[in-house]
Order: sequence, then C-alpha cells, then structure tokens
Amino acid sequence: MERGAKKPGTQLMAQETIFIGFGSNLGDRQELCDRAVALMNLLPLSQVTGVSSYYETEPVDPEGRLGESWFYNGVVRLETSLSPTRLLDILQETERGLGRNDTDRHGPRTIDFDILLFGQQQIDQPGLTVPHPRLHQRRFVLEPLVELDPAFRHPTLHRSMRELLEALQDLSRVNKLDIKPGSKYRSRPACSVPPLS
Ligand code: ADP
Ligand code: MG
Repeated sequence: MERGAKKPGTQLMAQETIFIGFGSNLGDRQELCDRAVALMNLLPLSQVTGVSSYYETEPVDPEGRLGESWFYNGVVRLETSLSPTRLLDILQETERGLGRNDTDRHGPRTIDFDILLFGQQQIDQPGLTVPHPRLHQRRFVLEPLVELDPAFRHPTLHRSMRELLEALQDLSRVNKLDIKPGSKYRSRPACSVPPLS
C-alpha cells in the first residue's frame, strides 16, 4: 500500500454537530425514551452534548394511522464522526431492539428515530433525506430543537431554529414535561460479571 494511503474501511469522517429526534406513543413512553437516550450515549465515534426535555405531543397525522395516543418526544444533540448512512443503520437496528413493529411502520410506535440535521450537510438519497423534510413544519420537533440550540441554522432554509419556530403554523399541542430526561439509566452503577466457575 502506498505511504499515506488509508486502509479500506478506516477512513474517518469529519466530526459534525447533529440532531436526532425521538418519539414514542406505544408502551411505557418515558421508559422507552430513557432507553433511547441511554443508547444515544453508547453510539460509537459520538458524544452526546445535549438532551432536550421530554414533550408530550398530540399525534400529527392527517390519515390517522398513528392512533389516538399522544407521544413523548425529544431531541438529542451529538458530535459524531459516524457517516449518515451508518448512523441510520444503527438507529433502525435500535428501533427494532426497542420493539418497533416493522410490518406496521406507520402505526403507533414504541420508538421512532429521525435524523433531523447533520451539520450543514444536505443528503438526498434513497432512504435518507437530511435535513428531515418535515422538521420545519413540526412543533414537536422545533420546540425541543430551540430548547437545545436556538441559533443553529437550517442549511437550506437559511433560518435559525428559533426563526423557524416563530414562523411555524402548526397548531398541534406540545406540552413540555417536568421530568428529567434519560436520568434513569445515566447514574446506573457499574456491574461486574461473575467469573465462570
Ligand atoms: P416517520 O419517521 O416519517 O414516521 P419511519 O420512521 O417509518 O417514518 O421512516 C420511514 C423511512 O424514512 C425510513 O425507512 C428511512 O429510511 C426514511 N428516512 C428518510 N430520511 C430519514 C431521516 N432523515 N431520518 C430517519 N429516517 C429517514
Ligand atoms: Mg422515523
């Protein structure tokens, strides 16, 4: 191999500031969101730098497929060197691990992850559009984004998160909850595995 050439598979991506939205409207929503946040803390090549409050939010779906149950929603900010497609793979695997029903993807869900923003990158490929195409239309996304990083700029709309929230037409109800996000698993004591006898 030529000097300085990278081994296949070892090419590092530049670090980006990214935002992942999560939501749950099936099962124990707080527990599922706590698990989602705990798992974000375990992502490889990544560091969580902010977690929004949880918000209880009215389901937004003109076709009514999401059911009547309100969601718990929130947003996590990370610094990551993962590629967007690798991150999406991990998030979809995590959705399955947390009981997401793959056969009724548009129905009520134990957990849903959306890659909302990936630095200033614009991605338009099969299965992945970033910025998330409905981010600027959804109160349940913009309120936690503004809580975390009001000045962050949308790469194509060229508006800050605060400006997008101020211009928002969405009248669906979004209530900030007075509970500590992700607290349940963060202070978990380390456990050791007993030696095999
Ligand atoms: P929704 O979140 O819109 O309710 P899903 O979670 O079922 O729907 O996602 C549907 C598809 O959206 C997934 O198969 C995924 O490949 C695709 N997708 C496109 N862009 C994104 C993104 N930015 N974040 C997450 N999924 C995305
Ligand atoms: Mg999704």
